[in-house]
Amino acid sequence: MDRTLFIVKPDGVERGLIGEIIGRLEAKQLRIVAAEMRLIDVKTAERHYAEHHGKPYYDKLVEFMTQGPALVTIVEGPDNTWQVVRGLMGATNAKDATPGTIRGDLAIGLRENLVHGSDSAESAQREIDIFFPDLV
Ligand code: ADP
Ligand code: MG
Repeated sequence: MDRTLFIVKPDGVERGLIGEIIGRLEAKQLRIVAAEMRLIDVKTAERHYAEHHGKPYYDKLVEFMTQGPALVTIVEGPDNTWQVVRGLMGATNAKDATPGTIRGDLAIGLRENLVHGSDSAESAQREIDIFFPDLV
């Protein structure tokens, strides 16, 4: 089994889309093995998005991710589950995301694009350690 980090961002929680979004992962036969509704603090958001530090959108990204509660989860499935989840998410810019994907069907923004999913096996491990450090 393989695990990846998946977040329903504050816009998704605010819009009442948790059920719709998590339902799509479950329909794909992925399992939610950990989930926590939490107000992500600035330090944690900065660690999580460290690779984006210095980008013109960075400050507003951190502000967005800390503006309200997010649903932080660990998703489990077969090898390279991170890739399956990324496929369900769609392109970063929701305006261009393929219909049938979470972003393609439910969002139109670039920053406010509803979901986060790790982009590699290494990122998945790093991000799981950030949000669920006590997990065995
Ligand atoms: P993804 O979430 O698809 O992995 P990135 O890792 O490239 O995308 O970016 C992280 C997040 O930063 C995006 O999901 C989005 O919320 C925000 N973001 C990325 N690029 C931009 C941009 N050019 N302008 C505003 N926000 C952006
Ligand atoms: Mg990313």
